[in-house]
Amino acid sequence: MRRTRKWEYDAAVVGAGLTGAAIAQRLTEHGKRCLVLEKRPHIAGNAYDVEIDGIRVHRYGAHIFHTSDRRVWEYVSRFAEFNHYIHAPLANYRGRVYNLPFNMNTFAGLWGTASPEAAEEKLREQRVVYDHAPQNLEEQALSLAGRDIYETLIRGYTEKQWGRPCTQLPAFLIRRLPFRFTYDNRYFSDPYQGIPTDGYTRLVERMLDGIELRLETDYLSQRSHYDSLAERIIFTGPIDAFFDYAEGRLQYRTLRFEDEHLETPNRQGTAVMNYTDAETPFTRIIEHKHFVFGQQPNTIITKEYPLEWMPEAEPYYPINDAGNTAILERYLDRARAQTKVRFCGRLGEYKYYDMDQAIGAALTLADRILKE
Ligand SMILES: Cc1cc2nc3c(=O)[nH]c(=O)nc-3n(C[C@H](O)[C@H](O)[C@H](O)COP(=O)(O)OP(=O)(O)OC[C@H]3O[C@@H](n4cnc5c(N)ncnc54)[C@H](O)[C@@H]3O)c2cc1C
Repeated sequence: MRRTRKWEYDAAVVGAGLTGAAIAQRLTEHGKRCLVLEKRPHIAGNAYDVEIDGIRVHRYGAHIFHTSDRRVWEYVSRFAEFNHYIHAPLANYRGRVYNLPFNMNTFAGLWGTASPEAAEEKLREQRVVYDHAPQNLEEQALSLAGRDIYETLIRGYTEKQWGRPCTQLPAFLIRRLPFRFTYDNRYFSDPYQGIPTDGYTRLVERMLDGIELRLETDYLSQRSHYDSLAERIIFTGPIDAFFDYAEGRLQYRTLRFEDEHLETPNRQGTAVMNYTDAETPFTRIIEHKHFVFGQQPNTIITKEYPLEWMPEAEPYYPINDAGNTAILERYLDRARAQTKVRFCGRLGEYKYYDMDQAIGAALTLADRILKE
């Protein structure tokens, strides 16, 4: 990447989420002049957290950092200290609580089994054998996990998440179900995990330290102006919006969050409780203080409601089905033809990235740009 005098900035980075912040940080560290544009009034993208009544609240859903990538861990550790939070979610089915992911504690709760042999035997008994390949998600789940696990831990949650019965959902949504025949409740097996002790917003703030940032600035509404300022554009917003939806709209799963402030020190005893029955309208309750072992006399919980996708909704999870993949391919063709613009991140690539993957991809792109 050669600096020419014509440009005020070597790169304008669109989006101040983890992807945009990592690219801007890396380029700046190597002497490039970057401008970061963010349309929201805050940095950190969906990892944004904010302190309310002394409790750090994850504003766009629970965010747990975990990675097996040492390069990424060492990178984020430059900007934040992480606590030793280990994610071990629970499932509440009609008031009874089970451990997740499925392990010896779950089997003991469901069936009272106390040995791996007994649990495996029970699973074998439970699994439904079909004379055909599973035709829908219900058949797939019954063939992999059997009736008890399906009814107690899969059916209601999945139907709420997708807004339709499991019999109308494709079998491929559950390719396999991991069963652990140990008493290990850890959700992630990555060697590095935790929550930044000062929060994700502070982490990103440190990454962007000394870099010019404009909040509440939508690049797309002033595109030609910013194109004239910067030699390169790194776009981490939605790829379909960049091309003015010329190939159609990409769909996302979206969520609605509802907070409750409670005058009690401890509402559910854990950070994340899934509600797996069909009657409870939300899928999860997050009790934020437990991510950082908070001792406040009060608490804040957030109920998470899945929502049917509509174009104005906040895009959360890409839906990588055949229709969306075909649309994406056409956008990627257009993206490859762009010489000034590079696309990156969860929205820029329409890819479900965990935070560590987003940062890893961002660093790789920045390093590639530095070599050009
Ligand atoms: C509910 C939920 C829970 C999650 N939980 C976890 C978890 O536990 N662990 C984990 O590792 N990952 C988790 N993730 C994934 C994590 O949020 C992403 O990996 C991460 O946010 C990706 O960062 P990004 O910068 O690519 O995208 P984003 O965070 O979406 O940032 C993109 C930014 O670009 C801005 N932008 C878009 N268009 C424009 C424009 N035209 N002009 C200016 N700015 C623009 C947006 O406002 C946004 O701030 C979760 C995601 C969701 C949705």
